[in-house]
Amino acid sequence: MNTRVTIHEVLKTIIKPKNVKVDEPLSNHTFTKTGGKADFLVFPETNKEVQDVYQYAMQQQISITIIGFGSNLIIRDGGIRGIVMSLKKLNSIQIKGTKIITQSGAAISDVSKFALSQSQTGLEFACGIPGSVGGAVHMNAGAYGGEIKDVIKECVVINKNSDLITLNKEQIGLSYRKSHVAEQGHIILEVIFELNPGVYEEIHAKMDDFTLQRQRKQPLEYPSCGSVFKRPLGHFAGKLIQESGLQGKQIGGAQVSTRHAGFIVNIDKATATDYIKLIQHIQNTVKSKLGVELETEVKVIGEDLK
Ligand code: FAD
Repeated sequence: MNTRVTIHEVLKTIIKPKNVKVDEPLSNHTFTKTGGKADFLVFPETNKEVQDVYQYAMQQQISITIIGFGSNLIIRDGGIRGIVMSLKKLNSIQIKGTKIITQSGAAISDVSKFALSQSQTGLEFACGIPGSVGGAVHMNAGAYGGEIKDVIKECVVINKNSDLITLNKEQIGLSYRKSHVAEQGHIILEVIFELNPGVYEEIHAKMDDFTLQRQRKQPLEYPSCGSVFKRPLGHFAGKLIQESGLQGKQIGGAQVSTRHAGFIVNIDKATATDYIKLIQHIQNTVKSKLGVELETEVKVIGEDLK
């Protein structure tokens, strides 16, 4: 029987006990600093541990959720039942020729800096994206005219049968903030980027410019999940929100940023419920005032408070 005690005991035989947390507040693991508790939060250190935890959860029909760095997640205040798995301890980055091979728990910004150190060009756009490599591939993260799709060659994933398989670029299937790997529910373990030889100083200058643009335009002094909405065709979400008179609108501790209307910032102990109510209010207002549907880029997961 899958009692909490049994699940805990089994998890501690699969991975190191110090890497199994019980009733862990996920607000400690999201960039908005909101979210309820995970029944179990685990941090595997090897691919085999990831595979074994996944296999155990599948066999025992225990729900399993993968998180990256939580920079594009709103986790409802009731938290997540079952097992939540973070791959942030799998974070190696290596180079082979013009290929950079990384584990999915590495920070995409560290991969960008590593590419600079090797004078490889192509990943400059990612220098200020605060997520993991796994999250960046899952979302096809992008900025300043670049996206993961432009630089990815292959990735190694665990599929629904718990098999380790390698996917090529077409199979990964990246488009604007979407991927086949996400639709198929694959766990991304390893990513191979193919870059081009470049000039160190030019790569560095580009990264400095992108960093400066972020610092000028984004409310980086507050917790947030970045741009909350996808860019609707022919529009910019932030501009629509501004035109709807919503800049500065606050529900609970969540506020439409006064600096960048596409961001919702946690200015005063916001809850996930505050975020979700504000998102719905923005969607309804923009639809009724300007006739445009805003679709969330941020992923909202987990249970409401009972
Ligand atoms: P999470 O938020 O933890 O998860 C996002 C999704 O990815 C979830 O569905 C999760 O299940 C899935 N996932 C994560 N890891 C794996 C894995 N190993 N295998 C399978 N699924 C996985 N985004 C941009 O695209 N461009 C930007 O310029 C940008 N700027 C931002 C600025 C700020 C200040 C913030 C807070 C966010 C910004 N973001 C931006 C959003 C975010 O950083 C990206 O979407 C990032 O790629 C998410 O990575 P993560 O590791 O935090 O994923």
